[in-house]
Amino acid sequence: MGKKLYFGSNLKMYKTIAQTIEYLKKLTELTKDISRDEEITLFIIPSYTSLEDASREIDHRLCLLGAQNMCWEEEGQFTGEISPLMLNEIGMDLVMIGHSERRHVFRETDIEENRKVRCVLEHGMRALLCIGETGEQKEYGISPEVLRTQLKVGFHGIDPSYADRIWVAYEPVWSIGVNGTPASADYAEEMHGVMKECLREIFGEAGDRIPCLYGGSVNPGNARELISMKSIDGLFVGRSAWQADKFDVLIRDALSAARATGK
Ligand code: PEP
Repeated sequence: MGKKLYFGSNLKMYKTIAQTIEYLKKLTELTKDISRDEEITLFIIPSYTSLEDASREIDHRLCLLGAQNMCWEEEGQFTGEISPLMLNEIGMDLVMIGHSERRHVFRETDIEENRKVRCVLEHGMRALLCIGETGEQKEYGISPEVLRTQLKVGFHGIDPSYADRIWVAYEPVWSIGVNGTPASADYAEEMHGVMKECLREIFGEAGDRIPCLYGGSVNPGNARELISMKSIDGLFVGRSAWQADKFDVLIRDALSAARATGK
């Protein structure tokens, strides 16, 4: 049996509560025969308004649920923000921090991501930190430096004992969304190598256990090759995951490709 692989999706600002529940029910029903102990960890990150119903109605053993963002304080004068206490109250399993749209549309900084990641971990949830270079940074040949900076600042001051609740997603900004170009499997593998080395520098041996997922225009045509790469531990999928039946097929395809390469 190979190692467990990670598959997940961020639903961004799509799907109403009813649509989210319908999607999650279908996805868990379709994928329930795939072992969560040995084969996959499945997670979905819906919009805030759907989280409470989703958390109540969905079997968390089949699908972990996450929030798309979180404030670094428990309470206070932070209009429009959501606190870790509120996410704990509704049983969230994980919180995504630093998605490319948070960094580039809402101008969040590495220092803010660090405060949020720490807060997620201190409140007992898993933290999924998203990192990735822009197209311009790639052109300048500084992608490794950018990723290393995002990891070193993002995880600054975090004790290695928290590493078992840390996940990282590499999502190059130029590869995400409708105008994105998927990274080649070789390029993604090279960057994952940089990340894994850096995680070891930060957390020591515990860093080796942190799953590194690739995201950015993953689709049925490239999922098999990407997941077969040595340093890619999972796929973080946007558009190609938002129909449950299509995501189910993508997961099965990717899993069988990875197992065929001995992964
Ligand atoms: C994303 O925005 O995180 C993402 C991976 O989107 P897509 O797969 O649609 O490029």
